[in-house]
Amino acid sequence: MSFNSLGLSEALLKAIAKQGYTTPSPIQQKAIPRILEGKDVLASAQTGTGKTAGFTLPMLQRLAQEKQLRQRPIRALVLTPTRELAAQVYDNVKSYSEFLDIRSAVIFGGVNQRPQVSTLRNGVDVLIATPGRLLDLQNQGLLSLSKVEILVLDEADRMLDMGFLRDIKKIISSLPNRRQNLLFSATFSKEIKNLANDFLHHPVMVEATPENTTVDAIEQKVYRVAKDLKTGLIIKLIAEGNWQQVLVFTRTKHGANKLCKKMDQAGISAAAIHGNKTQGARTKALSGFKNNSIRVLVATDIAARGLDIPLLPHVINFELPNIAEDYVHRIGRTGRAGASGEAISLVSADETSYLKDIEKLVDLKIPVEIVEGFEPDPNASTEPIKQGQGGRGNRSNKSEGNTKPKSNSGQRTSASKPKRNRNRNRNRNRGNDSRN
Ligand code: AMP
Repeated sequence: MSFNSLGLSEALLKAIAKQGYTTPSPIQQKAIPRILEGKDVLASAQTGTGKTAGFTLPMLQRLAQEKQLRQRPIRALVLTPTRELAAQVYDNVKSYSEFLDIRSAVIFGGVNQRPQVSTLRNGVDVLIATPGRLLDLQNQGLLSLSKVEILVLDEADRMLDMGFLRDIKKIISSLPNRRQNLLFSATFSKEIKNLANDFLHHPVMVEATPENTTVDAIEQKVYRVAKDLKTGLIIKLIAEGNWQQVLVFTRTKHGANKLCKKMDQAGISAAAIHGNKTQGARTKALSGFKNNSIRVLVATDIAARGLDIPLLPHVINFELPNIAEDYVHRIGRTGRAGASGEAISLVSADETSYLKDIEKLVDLKIPVEIVEGFEPDPNASTEPIKQGQGGRGNRSNKSEGNTKPKSNSGQRTSASKPKRNRNRNRNRNRGNDSRN
């Protein structure tokens, strides 16, 4: 199938060609025609599936087809859980609307609101926003949503995990009743279904099956190693492999900082990206990583969500996530858009049960290696470390965000096979990262 058969305008096809896309991804094939018809859509899709273009292209087409009002009220609103994802969606909207008379803007917290406000004053057709800053500006009377015709909730599951439900409801209540609604989510918990029931009108369901495809394209490997030898091992792997662009995941912000310091000491340039970093520091770290001036980017799960780093050759899990689905999100950062990639996990004894959960979810026995001099500790306990303690009984090590248990989130859809896994520890370490 080609993009030409989806009913998109010449201006959009030109922008798509400029991106170098030749074939629409499955989610794009399914979602674009339905959105063009004006239907509400409930889509099961996660980062890496091409979902952003899946909603942006038809949204832009619908907006461009209408008569432009002189004062340019906000006609489409895209809500995202994190600043990074908001910025990424905005980049997509800008690229795809290059040949259209459509203005877009992005707003999120953590930065001065003044430039955002002046952009809004000039008139914006498409606004991409995180819920906190949007409500903030709305409460100050600095923006109006009374002319919104299309609402997109992107990564709705993450927004709920991060405690944005009330904000979302408040925002929705300020929108006109007659509008098109698009909800994208990787998982479908009871809360997501309730949200969908509340505000979608006869939605069309579209599903993509990213997980297996993504996982299949990636070479996965586990190094069994003693906990206190992990830092030495990761430095050895990066140095000896001469890897120049490596994304490393840690479970805690503190762990990310500590690892960066050790890498720097070993002569490997590294930067951390997590919820305690200012927006400026995150942007700098990410652009340094993208332009190869920083070799290693150390991230926590929430901070990494939505990062678009094309053709990433190496992802390393310094620690396994306690939520198996996060493993899939993490390694989805490599082998994207058809490129091959390698995902390595350093696994200590206390992570054994996490590894089992992950293997169940991806339906694969991940090959294990042991490096001489970095052997696992045969006497270490296989009891999982307590979340919130970072395994070292140190409060400053606590995982990112709040640690309130969420019992029924993360339920997968039929599309996102396999679905057997339910993690032992359902504490969702989601939190305030990237909020507002
Ligand atoms: P997303 O799932 O929206 O985060 O997109 C993942 C990546 O796929 C981004 O780098 C997009 O630029 C890229 N992409 C989106 N659609 C296509 C397509 N049809 N063909 C190739 N790459 C695409």
